[in-house]
This record gives sequence, C-alpha cells and structure tokens, in this order.
Amino acid sequence: MLWIGSHVGFNKKTQLVGSVEEAASYGSNTFMFYTGAPQNTTRSPIDQELVKKAKDKMKEAGINVEKVIVHAPYIINLCNEGNFTFSVDFLTEEVKRVNELGISYLVLHPGSHVGLGIERGIENIAKGLNQVFEAVGPDNKVTILLETMAGKGSEVGSKIEELKEIMDKVTEKEKLGICLDTCHLNDSGYDMSQFDDFLNTFESIIPLSKIGCVHINDSKNELSAHKDRHENIGFGTIGFDTLIKIIYHEKLEDIPKILETPYVNKLYPPYKQEIEMIRKKEFNEKLIDLIKE
Ligand code: FE
Ligand code: FE
Ligand code: ZN
Repeated sequence: MLWIGSHVGFNKKTQLVGSVEEAASYGSNTFMFYTGAPQNTTRSPIDQELVKKAKDKMKEAGINVEKVIVHAPYIINLCNEGNFTFSVDFLTEEVKRVNELGISYLVLHPGSHVGLGIERGIENIAKGLNQVFEAVGPDNKVTILLETMAGKGSEVGSKIEELKEIMDKVTEKEKLGICLDTCHLNDSGYDMSQFDDFLNTFESIIPLSKIGCVHINDSKNELSAHKDRHENIGFGTIGFDTLIKIIYHEKLEDIPKILETPYVNKLYPPYKQEIEMIRKKEFNEKLIDLIKE
C-alpha cells in the first residue's frame, strides 16, 4: 500500500493535533515533523491529552501512526567533538520525546566531520549513538533512521558504505535503520533513473529491510553536484517518471514516502497538489500556478 505524506509543522499549542490536521488537509496518510524549531533547542513537554486526541484524528483521517516520522533537529552533530556532549544529550531527550509521542521512527542526519576526516566522523557518530541508546534505556521503542546525505561540505553518510560502517559499530542494531532521500542520493552521485541498479548496490551493503522511510524530493542540481537543494516533484533533474517508479517500487512497498519539496514562492505548500499527482501518476506542469490561485 502507498503511504504518502509530507513534512508538516508542529507547534507548542496544538502539538501533534495540528500536525495531523495539516497532513490530512493534503490528503496524506502519513507525515513527518520536527518536535520544535529544527535550528534551536527550545522544546515544550509532550501533552498526553493532545497525543490521545491526535491519535483519534489519525484514525478518522486514515493516517497510520506506525508510518509517521519525526525528523531530528539538524543542530545535532554527533561528529563534532566540540559539542559532542550537547548533541548526545539533546538527541537522548529527542528519542525520549518521540517515545512519549508513541511514534516509531526518528530520522537523523549522521553529521558533518568539519575537518576531522570521514573515519573519525564515523567513529564519533557510532560512539554518540551508543551513548544515546544507553541513556534512553531498554524501554526504547524508537528506531533511529540514518539519512543518506548529499555530500555537501563535510557531510558523513553520502555513501552507503559509510552508513554501513556506522551501523556496524552501533550495539543496538535492531533500533537502527536507514532513510533514503532521492535528492540527496542524486546529489551524492547515485543515478535515480537506474533505481534497480541502485537498490542492488544498496542491498549488497545493507539489507533492504533496514529502510524505514524514503524522502521523495526532486533536485535542483545535476547528478553528483553535492549541493542538497530540493525541487518540486517533476520540476527537477530527477523528473516525475523516475520518482513515480521509486514511489511505487515493489521492494519499497509499505515504506512511508515523505515529500520535503520547497514551498512555492516560499509561501504556498505544494503538498496537496504533489500528492494528487503522485496518486494519479500524472504530472501537471501547471502545479505551481494552481497553488497560487
Ligand atoms: Fe533530512
Ligand atoms: Fe531528507
Ligand atoms: Zn536535503
């Protein structure tokens, strides 16, 4: 079954209820959100009344809570030795919060090694993840999904082999998986138009069962550009037909697909229209005009 949704907001007043309402308004049956502003550490305590209300609303809207994703704030950088303790503590708190929300998946950017080198970066990430799992304890129900990165700057995790190395060094293997991002994969040099080849390559390194989420984005840049600039579905270098093949690929069935495409004119969310195109498997180049109306 197709589980499709987008990135949505989460504010401290309505919390998960607001996120569900926004997702439902796009015709989604899953969604992804940050538990607060991605670039700061201000987080409000999870209100269990709102969680309960949100879960009722999910049932009404046909949203499956098991397919809902949280994205970890990108100020967490487990590679960076300068604020390693901060990152470990904040990620620990975040994993606890996701447990409180009753959500199963947390997507994490592995980190940027900022000059330390890939190998030391990988060591630090694995060490950090081990400390986080240790600190959260045995009641943890959340799987951390390491996202495939574009290879911008000193990002770790733009190669499947690097993600595999991290996974090998983490003790809590059952609670660690992968989130594919089509824009990032394109920008890091994996040709999405040859997706079966990509899956074969991936599978020769990491089992496909480890994939817990796929971010569906077109890219503003060419293959191997190492840029990470997302584009609306069908308007970028990956293209609509290739993205449809990925979304409906039989080996990725049942895995939630999440749109993180840019707002039109930085103002209008494109998700309702994009999800409609995806469900119809039909590209509409007037999408952008439609949204502004
Ligand atoms: Fe991400
Ligand atoms: Fe992503
Ligand atoms: Zn990105």
